[in-house]
Amino acid sequence: MTSLDDLPIRADLRGLSPYGAPQLEVPVRLNTNENSYPVPDVVAETIGRAIAAELRNLNRYPDRDAVALRGDLAAYLGHGLTRDQVWAANGSNEVQQQLLQVFGGPGRTAFGFTPAYSMHPLLALGTGTRWVPARRGADFGLTVGEAVAQVREHRPDVVFLCSPNNPTGTALDPAVVAAVLAEAPGMVVVDEAYAEFARAGAVSALSLLPGHPRLVVTRTMSKAFGFAGGRLGYLAADPAVVAAVQLVRLPYHLSALTQAAARAALVHRDALLGTVSAIKVQRDRIVSELRSRGHRVADSDANFVLFRVGGDQRVAWQVLLDAGVLVRDVGLPGWLRVTAGTPAETDAFLLALEKLSS
Ligand code: PMP
Repeated sequence: MTSLDDLPIRADLRGLSPYGAPQLEVPVRLNTNENSYPVPDVVAETIGRAIAAELRNLNRYPDRDAVALRGDLAAYLGHGLTRDQVWAANGSNEVQQQLLQVFGGPGRTAFGFTPAYSMHPLLALGTGTRWVPARRGADFGLTVGEAVAQVREHRPDVVFLCSPNNPTGTALDPAVVAAVLAEAPGMVVVDEAYAEFARAGAVSALSLLPGHPRLVVTRTMSKAFGFAGGRLGYLAADPAVVAAVQLVRLPYHLSALTQAAARAALVHRDALLGTVSAIKVQRDRIVSELRSRGHRVADSDANFVLFRVGGDQRVAWQVLLDAGVLVRDVGLPGWLRVTAGTPAETDAFLLALEKLSS
């Protein structure tokens, strides 16, 4: 049998394994920050009709520029955005890959404050962009001073900020985003995959877009919209940025079925986003319950919670799995991350967690 090592793959990819959380069949899956609520029937029916209407046209390529969908996404975002300021792709992972293809690449650097979303360095790797891991302060916080000093030192071509941050859950102080934007010589990408779950007072970087053509905000329908399987991510930025990513996007990257499904889902955005407040209740319940049990817990503006287990998190992860609850080991010694889902899932998680102390 031919192994990977027998193939003439790039030297920088040798010895690596593909990214991905374990997809295990267990009763309670709280490891990938999905929305636990299924798509409501009325929405599924609308999506089904929209897809059916496309089927006989599948002999034709889709709208290469996804113009109608981008208009719908701009209307959803508000902030006076128009479709020429929005771009869409198969998940925000693909959007960010396109950004690195056009603004990163060989000889260029991308930079992010670790721990943050682990795909950012992997997208850098795949696009031949050098990754510079910057540091966070105590308790995973990030002050204006710490952020600006590191941007000044490394002068990266692309800065990734993640707000609310994965895996910590905490939204960035808007002053940090503004200060990084002022200091960075290149593009600043604010990954707002979890924006809809933020606590009151959090400010989206969308409000900074006017007058900042090097700022990009990425969003996704995978989390709050409960549309992870539909694969739809998008960005908002200056129209010049949208023109720039079109230099590297594959022609017809977004299928007619995806475009139709996403547009139908957006028609029902109130029904889909109706789960957000219920999920936030569970998120806040997990935070307060874990704190009352003596765990250290990061503040969460997302649909997940990072908590300290003490001792080896790999052991704790297995104990929870044996109790039927799958959470995420993000590789932070002593910490685990759990997705907030339904009340029953929270019950199961909190019960399983009791096994840790017994
Ligand atoms: N950004 C962050 C911070 C994420 O956690 C995720 C999903 N885990 C993504 C982006 C990518 O989501 P998608 O490609 O499904 O839009």
